[in-house]
Amino acid sequence: MAYATINPFTNEQIRIYPNSTDAEVDTALDQAHAAFLSWRGTSFAQRAQVMQKAADILRRDIEKYAEILTREMGKLISEARAETELSAAIFEYYAKNAESLLQPQDLPVASRDEGRAKIVFQPLGILLAVEPWNFPYYQVARIIAPQLSAGNTVVLKHASNVPQSAAAMDQLMIEAGLPKGGFRNLYPTHDQVARIVADHRVRGVALTGSEGAGAKIAAAAGSALKKSTMELGGSDAFIVLEDADLEKTIKWAVFGRHWNAGQVCVSAKRLIVVDQVYDRFVQGYRDGVAKLKMGDPMDPATTLAPLSSQGAVDNLKKQVEGAIAGGAKAEEIPLPMPNTGAFFRPVILSDIAEDNPARREEFFGPVTLLFRAKNEEDAINIANDSPYGLGGSVFTKDEARGEAVAAKIETGMVYVNHPTMVKADLPFGGVLRSGYGRELIGLGIKEFVNAKLIDVV
Ligand code: NDP
Repeated sequence: MAYATINPFTNEQIRIYPNSTDAEVDTALDQAHAAFLSWRGTSFAQRAQVMQKAADILRRDIEKYAEILTREMGKLISEARAETELSAAIFEYYAKNAESLLQPQDLPVASRDEGRAKIVFQPLGILLAVEPWNFPYYQVARIIAPQLSAGNTVVLKHASNVPQSAAAMDQLMIEAGLPKGGFRNLYPTHDQVARIVADHRVRGVALTGSEGAGAKIAAAAGSALKKSTMELGGSDAFIVLEDADLEKTIKWAVFGRHWNAGQVCVSAKRLIVVDQVYDRFVQGYRDGVAKLKMGDPMDPATTLAPLSSQGAVDNLKKQVEGAIAGGAKAEEIPLPMPNTGAFFRPVILSDIAEDNPARREEFFGPVTLLFRAKNEEDAINIANDSPYGLGGSVFTKDEARGEAVAAKIETGMVYVNHPTMVKADLPFGGVLRSGYGRELIGLGIKEFVNAKLIDVV
C-alpha cells in the first residue's frame, strides 16, 4: 500500500511517499510519549497560543494550503479555501474555549454534610487519529485542536491518497510551536496501524472513514481495551414538505448533493419529497443540476469537481449499475465533461423499490436517490428506513413543524431549512452504522479525557 499524490483532474501521479519504517513508527511513539509527559503539564494559555498560531498561519497562507487540497484530491478551489478557513476556525475555537470547557466541576453531595467533591478533566496520553481524504485538513483539525488543547498528543494515519495534505498539517503544527512529538504524521501500513493501536502508550483511537475501516479499527481498539470514536458513513435524508419555499429548497438540494463532488458523509443523499410538490421539485432540481459546470477545479467558473480518484469513479459506476439491476430508474444529466480526469456525470435514481439494496447504500459522489412520499409521516418513515444515522434536514416554512419532524428523525444531527452543515462551534457525529462519539465543542474535547473524581471527605 503506497501513499501517493495523483491529481484527479489530470490523473497525473505527482509524487509517491514511501511507507514509514518500523523504526520510524517506534521513534514517533517514543517522541509522542515524551512530548505527552511535558505537554500535559503546560497551562491552557500555553496550549492556546499554539492553537491560535496554527489558525493564524492557515489564514495567512490560505492560498498555499488550499492549492494543496485542490491538486491532491480535486475539490473546487473555493471549497478548499473554505475548508482551510473552517480548520482555522476550529483551532481558534479551542484556543478561546478549551480552558472553560475543561474547568473542574464541583459536585454537590447531598448524602453527607461535610467534604468537597469535584471532577477534574485530565489528558490520557497518545491518541491515534485515522482520517479520510474528503476533507484532509478539517478532519485532522477537528481531532488535534481539541485533543492537543486537552493535553493529549496525537499520531496521524491519513488516507493513502492525501500524503501532501498530511505533511502540510504536520509542518503547520511545528511552525505553530507545538513541541517535538506533540503531533506526528506517519505513512504506516495497515499492519503498523494495528501495532500502534496495541502500543500500551496509545490510549485512544479516533477514526473517520468507511464502515469497513471503522469495524476493523474499533475491534482492534476494543481488544486492547481502548476507547474509540467512530465517524462513519451516512445517507442523509433531505425532506421536502408541501409548505417549503421551493425555490430556496431546490437550490439547497442541488448544493447539498453536489458540494465536494458529493463526497461528504453528510451530503443530502436521499431527497424525500411529499407528493403534492414532487413534480415541481423534481423539475426544478433537474434544471439546477443541469446548470452545474464540470471542469478544472482551480477555475472559479467550475461548480462540479472531479471525484478524488479514478477508483472512486469506477466504484460509483458499479453501484449505479447495481441500483439499475435492482429495478431503479436512472437519469444521467448530460453535462459536458472534460476528456481527462476522474469525472462523473450526475445521476438521479428514482423508483428505488423496498427490496432494492441500493435503497440503503451510501453513494459517495453526485448520485441522487429520489423518493416520493405520500405525506409527512411517510417522509419520516422513509428517512428512518436506513442503516445510517448521521445527519438530515427538513424543509418547511413552519419552523415548529420542522422541529417536530426533526425530533422524529433517528440521526445525530438534523437541520431545519438547511442541508446538514459543519461549523467550528456545532457538534458533529452520528448513531447506528454512522458510528459513535461526538467531535467538536465540549462534547469532542471530553471524548479522550479522564473525568476524575477527587473527593475530600
Ligand atoms: P476508508 O475507510 O477506506 O479510509 C479512511 C481511513 O481509514 C484511511 O486513512 C484509510 O487508510 C484507513 N484505513 C482503512 N482500512 C484500514 C485498516 N484496515 N487499517 C488501518 N487503516 C485503515 O474510507 P474511504 O477512503 O472509502 O472514505 C470514504 C468513507 O468515509 C465514506 O464511507 C464516508 O461516508 C466516510 N466518511 C465519514 C465521515 C464522517 O465524518 N462520518 C467523513 C468523511 C468520510 P488507507 O487510505 O491507507 O486505506
